[in-house]
Amino acid sequence: MNRSDVLIIGAGPTGLVLALWLSKLGIRVRIIDKTSEPGTTSRALAVQARTLELYRQLDLSDTVVQNGHKVAAANFWVKGEPVARLPLSTIGEGLTPYAFLEMYPQDEHERLLIERLKAFGITVERNTELENFEETGDGITTRLRLPDGQQETCQACYLAGCDGARSIVRKTLDTGFPGGTYQQIFYVADVQARGPTFNGELHVDLDEADFLAVFPLAGEGRARLIGTVRDERAERAETLQFADVSSRAIEHLKVQIDQVNWFSTYRVHHRVADHFRTGRAFLLGDAAHVHSPAGGQGMNTGIGDAINLAWKLAAVLRGGATSKLLDSYETERIAFARRLVATTDRVFNFVTAEGRVADLLRMRVAPFLIPKMTSLEAVREFMFRTVSQTTLNYRGMPLSEGVAGDVHGGDRLPWAHDGEGDNFESLKNLTWQVHVYGDTSDEMIAWCTEHHLSLQVFDWRPVFETAGLARNGFYLLRPDTYVAIAEYSADPKVIERYFRDRGIRPFFS
Ligand SMILES: Cc1cc2nc3c(=O)[nH]c(=O)nc-3n(C[C@H](O)[C@H](O)[C@H](O)COP(=O)(O)OP(=O)(O)OC[C@H]3O[C@@H](n4cnc5c(N)ncnc54)[C@H](O)[C@@H]3O)c2cc1C
Repeated sequence: MNRSDVLIIGAGPTGLVLALWLSKLGIRVRIIDKTSEPGTTSRALAVQARTLELYRQLDLSDTVVQNGHKVAAANFWVKGEPVARLPLSTIGEGLTPYAFLEMYPQDEHERLLIERLKAFGITVERNTELENFEETGDGITTRLRLPDGQQETCQACYLAGCDGARSIVRKTLDTGFPGGTYQQIFYVADVQARGPTFNGELHVDLDEADFLAVFPLAGEGRARLIGTVRDERAERAETLQFADVSSRAIEHLKVQIDQVNWFSTYRVHHRVADHFRTGRAFLLGDAAHVHSPAGGQGMNTGIGDAINLAWKLAAVLRGGATSKLLDSYETERIAFARRLVATTDRVFNFVTAEGRVADLLRMRVAPFLIPKMTSLEAVREFMFRTVSQTTLNYRGMPLSEGVAGDVHGGDRLPWAHDGEGDNFESLKNLTWQVHVYGDTSDEMIAWCTEHHLSLQVFDWRPVFETAGLARNGFYLLRPDTYVAIAEYSADPKVIERYFRDRGIRPFFS
């Protein structure tokens, strides 16, 4: 019987990133998708800074940045005029190597991931559909429908449900997917057009309760219109045409359309699965959580799920950890998904609220407040950290320990950069490692050498303090670069105990 370590259902961005990470760690994966070819439409556009940081580990960041489009600014329009402008090209300066907002259409993104996967000898098995599965002792037995209509029974140690919002994995597990559905219909249109909003920047119309924005794409005159409609038009979503929604873009944002390359409507739900793990089966990406696309978080969160789970599965499969480690996947990711769904829901409801007060806030107060607020560095930094997912952390969770400087166990390691280089270089390795900023003990050096744990000792520099790192602080980093321990002690027993308590043997990861 065909047996893989991990059988991945779904070759969207989530499944593809999971397959890439696992393959890079030498895990045998099989990835199937019921469609005959990868998606050909742009769908999710924003690739957030945290995703780009993590993509460094897969050697993908440079290609995504080169082929995508950096958005220089966001503009807010009222009554056919721009009323506020928020520069974005260096909005996260000093916080990350990717201090900008990057647009890279999902179809191109998926093609890149598929190409990279091929380099590991892995091809997505197309026209292949998961029908059902069950857990059987030391594995999972699945039944697949093959391209010729035949059924195949196959075995895997673990099953990863990356099969989108209508996940068959989630349904087979009988896992609840509570939440709701927005009354508005979303539409997206990739267009070739002209006008003042086709200047490579982001434009948002504040005139009406229905959301409307122009997102720039790479290439002259290319952009994505994204908007919502409600009332009677939402009831005939299936037959809605671009002509039904385009007049507002033309009037309010002065868009002159030359060609519509893609138009689609879809209903958006805000839901989080009750569990992300049931035995040997996991839910990731849209299969686990869905929400409004406002804020460009959906695809990035799925990719984050994949990276969080990949190193844990690899460690368990290679004997570097007990299966208890896998419980931390749900703990860490469900907490973030619930917060994200609640936040995007609040923001979306505020932006699309109806009534005189809402109109007043959007058209009078917001244009006045946006420039004032965003002129404050602290506000810009907060916005960037939140949207870019660089603030996402696993503080207070079972794999996180200690505090040193401003950095807590569970945080993303802060980026520190000056003329002498940056502290992210060694993070390319998909392994546990220790960073020390300042001095450490001979015992620590000897222990790390003996246990093949990479140790980076940085001579103390002012830039580390600015980043919130502690002088002589030591930081044990997980393979996904989150801080496991933040401590001042240079006693390696702290690390030894951390691994022993959690059943982890790092030299296997
Ligand atoms: C029209 C549209 C516009 C969007 N715009 C945005 C946006 O602007 N910003 C944003 O953040 N997000 C947007 N999204 C959402 C974004 O595309 C998703 O969040 C993202 O694709 C989730 O990735 P995923 O890999 O988790 O799931 P998916 O991309 O849904 O991939 C799931 C895969 O599983 C496969 N599959 C399903 N069932 C089976 C089975 N039984 N057997 C085998 N294969 C199976 C499917 O064929 C599919 O390829 C948009 C979505 C749509 C549809």
